[in-house]
Amino acid sequence: MLFLPCPWCGPRDETEFRNGGEAGVAYPTDPDALDDAAWAEFLFVRANPEGWFHERWVHTAGCRQWFSVERHTVTNEIRDPRPIGDPA
Ligand SMILES: [Zn+2]
Repeated sequence: MLFLPCPWCGPRDETEFRNGGEAGVAYPTDPDALDDAAWAEFLFVRANPEGWFHERWVHTAGCRQWFSVERHTVTNEIRDPRPIGDPA
């Protein structure tokens, strides 16, 4: 069972959350300049590391706030929870 540390509510069961995917993916500065392949890569291609991964979560069954954490993809260890937009 995975417990996620919501920055506002504290540790809660993972069933209260939705995963929002990789954190820190920048929106293209000029999206009209992208061809279909580049646009598809921006939309669908994400890192898939074996190790620490920076990802977004939303507390859907709680405060409904977005935040990011670093999760180890092998051990599911969680560290560094922070609100979205909070600088590292
Ligand atoms: Zn919360």
